[in-house]
Amino acid sequence: MTTPRIEAADLQRIQQAVRQIIEAIGEDPYRPGLADTPRRVAELYAEMFSGLREDPASVLSPTFPATHEEMVILRDIPFYSLCEHHFLPFFGRAHVGYVPRGEVVGASKIARLVDILARRPQLQERLTSQVADALMEGLRPYGVAVVVEAEHLCMTMRGIKKPGTLLVTSAVRGVFRRRGVTRTEFLSLLRGGQP
Ligand code: ZN
Repeated sequence: MTTPRIEAADLQRIQQAVRQIIEAIGEDPYRPGLADTPRRVAELYAEMFSGLREDPASVLSPTFPATHEEMVILRDIPFYSLCEHHFLPFFGRAHVGYVPRGEVVGASKIARLVDILARRPQLQERLTSQVADALMEGLRPYGVAVVVEAEHLCMTMRGIKKPGTLLVTSAVRGVFRRRGVTRTEFLSLLRGGQP
C-alpha cells in the first residue's frame, strides 16, 4: 500500500475560521482571553487530525515470524477522537484480538494503529471496522476482533445528558466471525479470563 501524501493542515486557514466563529457567536476575538484562541485551536486540530496524513499500513511493518497461532489480545488501549458530526471528543478504550497466521506485530504498533485512525474526523463504528480491516490487510491473520467502548461528549454534555453512558461497537473478521467459540474466548479474555 502506498503512503498517502497529503499536505500539512493549513494552520492559517483554521485560525481565520476560528476567529470568524468567535465573531459569529458575538464575542470579541481580540480581547485578551480570546486573542490566542484561534492559534491554539489550529494547533489542537492539526494534532487531533494528524492521522489524516499517516498511513495505518505503515505502522504494521515490520512483522515478526511466530509459531504461536493462538489468540493474541491487546486490551484497554486508550484513545481520543473527535466525532465528525460535532467535532466534539469521544474517548475510551479499544480492545483488539487476532489469531496470527505465522506473523505477529509489536503491541505498541497496534496501539499506534488505533491512534492514527482515531486522529481523524471519525465515527466510532467506522473506527472499529477500520482497525479490524487494517489488521486483516497488514497481518493476514486467521481473524481479528475489535471492541471499542467510548463516551461521546456530543451525547453526554447535551441532548440526552447521561454522563458515563458508553457506546460499545465491535467488528469481527475471519475466524472470529465464523467460530462462535473463538468469539466467546475473546470476550471472556476481555473480562479478565472469567467465563
Ligand atoms: Zn457527535
